Order: sequence, then structure tokens, then C-alpha cells
Amino acid sequence: MLKLWNTATRSLQEFHPLNEKLVGLYTCGPTVYWTAHIGNLRTYVFEDVLLRTLEMEGYAVKRVMNITDVGHLTSDEDEGDDKMEVAAKREGKSATDIAEYYTQRFVEDTATLNIRLPEAPLFCKATEHIPEQLELIQELEKKGFTYQTSDGIYFDTAKFPNYGALSGQKLEEKEAGARVAVNDEKRNASDFALWKFSYPSVIPAKAGIQDEKDSETMDSRLRGNDNKKRQQEWPSPWGIGFPGWHIECSAMAKKYLGQPFDIHCGGVDHIPVHHENEIAQSEAAYGVKLANYWMHGEFLLVDGGKMSKSLGNVYSIADLKAKGFDPLALRLLFLGSHYRQKQNFTFEALQGAQNSLNKLRHHVRSLVVPPMAIGGTQDAEKGLDSRLRGNDNVTDFKTALEDDLNTPVALACLWKILDDASISDDQRVVAIVSMDRVLGLNLTQEIGRVIAIPEDILALAKQREDVRAARDWAESDRLRDELLRLGWIVKDTKLGSELEQK
Ligand code: AMP
Ligand code: ZN
Repeated sequence: MLKLWNTATRSLQEFHPLNEKLVGLYTCGPTVYWTAHIGNLRTYVFEDVLLRTLEMEGYAVKRVMNITDVGHLTSDEDEGDDKMEVAAKREGKSATDIAEYYTQRFVEDTATLNIRLPEAPLFCKATEHIPEQLELIQELEKKGFTYQTSDGIYFDTAKFPNYGALSGQKLEEKEAGARVAVNDEKRNASDFALWKFSYPSVIPAKAGIQDEKDSETMDSRLRGNDNKKRQQEWPSPWGIGFPGWHIECSAMAKKYLGQPFDIHCGGVDHIPVHHENEIAQSEAAYGVKLANYWMHGEFLLVDGGKMSKSLGNVYSIADLKAKGFDPLALRLLFLGSHYRQKQNFTFEALQGAQNSLNKLRHHVRSLVVPPMAIGGTQDAEKGLDSRLRGNDNVTDFKTALEDDLNTPVALACLWKILDDASISDDQRVVAIVSMDRVLGLNLTQEIGRVIAIPEDILALAKQREDVRAARDWAESDRLRDELLRLGWIVKDTKLGSELEQK
């Protein structure tokens, strides 16, 4: 029985989806103004493991991920500039080009980590769902949850009694903890923008304009607004503008998954603001729960602290590759720690994961497997292969993942399978193929590589192993050259020899 930690109830709960066979899963996606860093990627690996575990349990999963390509401001207080517009200026491109470029980077980076993404339309852009967002805001307006300020339409959190339930913070506590209000037109510090105006109306008193004589000042203020013309803006019943950051998730979740749906995920930083706000606007508008289970990935730290540009420790996949690491070593590193624990990234730890990955690959390559063992598993259903029933390690592997995705224990089961002398190689292969469907470490491909080596090459390699065992170095070298001539490089490692195609 699958059990998941639900942030909303602060408890480990048995998972019961709304529909017996199909799980609705919403995962907040990237703001595509910059390359994803390894912290972001940790959260996406956790969500990928969740998806694969649900499949292991026999569910089909309808998963949605949004692409934030408008409206995410540099401050969570609904102030500052739009991150997309900032990036557009920085790179001298249009906001649309920026979104396209960084979405592509995101797709490439996540692919190197074997993170599966939903396909369009379920991998969905905020800018392509403006009507749905406007409809939701209008619904909220109709029900009396909104008010207008000079710079936008806001959600009045005091009107939603459940506000703060996810993070366990009462509205008054939030108010007390909030920084000095940046926007004194907001009724409550936790109120948030649903729609922001491109051209906030200038209230003369606020602009420091005393009387008519100051009209020149007023003109320049208005020109100032004009100069700030946004690249991305849309008409709305309230004025030209753009959506607030949170509304896209509520609108797209409703459109593709309906409301309520089963599981909603993100990083822990989303709990107090983004997810509280999603819940408030969705539940206020439609009067039913947004999602039944809320799951959050803990943060990745770097060298014991927060990642920051000023410290130069905001690493991307490209940075790790440039240092010679395989991105899957990062995935293995992430799997070695439970998603609800903070994890500290260091290059020593990554090197350790890289060594473990190499060792795993080596083990898997050295398995002697009849092609049947592989063919059989490819045809097997998505769940764990039936031939594995009764194998303790495989059962433990499944139990570990069913226990709120306990990947560190699941990994230990994989190592035990490799080390257990009582299991035959073909059973091992079947187990590894099944486990790798969830772990996503490309171990299955490694098995394939052994199979792809022609018989005569394998025979020569075996002959070379034998002469090496007999310490006949001259013959061993001759066989190495022979293999090289045939296109195969022999590498001697501590664990035995490996064959690689030239
Ligand atoms: P963003 O693009 O900023 O919305 O972030 C994308 C995802 O990464 C969100 O689910 C965040 O919660 C998550 N995230 C951001 N920083 C970290 C971090 N240091 N460790 C883990 N997850 C993070
Ligand atoms: Zn979201």
C-alpha cells in the first residue's frame, strides 16, 4: 500500500486516488527566464520518482506541468519587474524568444537526468491560457473575493477563512511576520495580485503632485509609465495588463485535471505563498478542494548554505558536465537522500555518486545474460515483473518506495541484488530492469550493451581474461591489440575487464 506524506494534513497517509486507475498530478514548473539550477532539478527528480512509483503501483498518471512565461515578478510580494522582461532586456531578445530558449534548455537538462516531462498540451504555457485565467478572476470577482488598487486586481485573503491552512499559519501571524508593507494599497499583507496593470493609474497625491501647476511633473510620470511598455500584455475587463504568478496554476489545473484532483507538488518554498494562494483562489472560486494530497521536496543546499549568484555556487547541468560528471551521477546523488530531508551538495559527494554509478554500471555490464531475460522484461507490464515475486530484495525495494518514496532504502536493495550470491544473473537482470524503471539510472541500457557485443568478441575477451589469470602478459597484450583491430577497446578495472566500442 502506497503511503505519502501530505503537507496539508501533516501526516503520512495511505494513498487513495479519486479514480481507481488514473491519478491526476500537478507539478509546478519552471519560470523560463534562466537555466534551471541543481536545486530546481532536485525537486523535479523527486516528482519524477513519484510519477514512476505511481506507475509501479499500476496507476496511469495524468500529469500536468506549467511553464511560467509571464507574470513571475522579482519579488514574491507582487512587486518588482517581471523576470521574463528582465531577461529579455538582459539578452536583447523578445520575451517570447527568451521563453522558447529556456524552455528548450529545461527540456534538454531534464532529459539528461531521465526526468520525464508531460507532453503538450499538459506541458502548458501561462501565456497560452490567458482566457482561462481571466475567467477564474471573473469568477472570484463575482463572488466578492477581489478588490482593485491602482496597480491591479487583488485577492482579499481575509475573505477566505482557510487562508494559511497549508503552512499552518494564521492570517494574523502572517500579518505580524510580514515585512513593512511594500504596497500600502493592499488590505492585508498576504493579499496577492490576480491581475497586474501594465499602466498603473497615477494617483496625484502619491506621485508627489500638489496642484495643477505641477502638471509638467504629472506628464513626465505618465510618460514614465509609457516608456515602461511591456512586451507581454493583454486586454482584460479591468485594463491592459498581465496575470499574477499564482493564477496560471489554478486555471490550468482546473482545465486539464478538473477540481479536485489527486496530488499537487512543488518545492517547500512554495508552501507559504504560491500554494497557499493557489488553494485560496481555486477553492474560493469553485467551492471544492483543489487537491487531496500536497507533496513538497526539501531544499538542496550547496556547501552547507543557500545557493546564490554572488557566491558563484548556482550550478547547472552544463557546469557539472564541464567538470566531467555524468548528469546521472547527480540523479543518483539525489536518490541517496529522502526528498523530505535537506540535502547538502558538494563536489566530493558528487564524485562519490559518480564512482557508485560507475560501479553499478560495471556490475550490470558484467552480468551474463541470455537475451531471453531482457526480451521478457521488455514485454512485461509496467509493474514489477511477475517473475520476481518472492524475491526479498525486490519486495523490500517496492516497500521502500511505498513508504513515502524512500529512495535511499530502495537503492540499498539494488546493491543487495547485485551482491546476493543466491540469485542467478538472469533473475538479477529481470530485477534490475524493473528497479531501473523507477530509479531511472539507465542501467537497463548497460545490460543491452553486453548483449550487443558479438559472440566472437566476447570469446576473445574471455580468452584474454584467462591468459591474464595465468599471468601471460604477452598473450594478453596480443589479444588486446586483436580486439582493438576489431573495433573494441579493453579496459582493465579493479572489478575485471570492460569492453567498449571504439
Ligand atoms: P522556480 O523556477 O523558481 O519556480 O523553481 C522551480 C522549482 O524548484 C520549484 O518547485 C521550487 O520550489 C524548486 N526549488 C527552487 N530552489 C530550490 C532548491 N534550492 N532546492 C530544491 N528545490 C528548489
Ligand atoms: Zn504552481
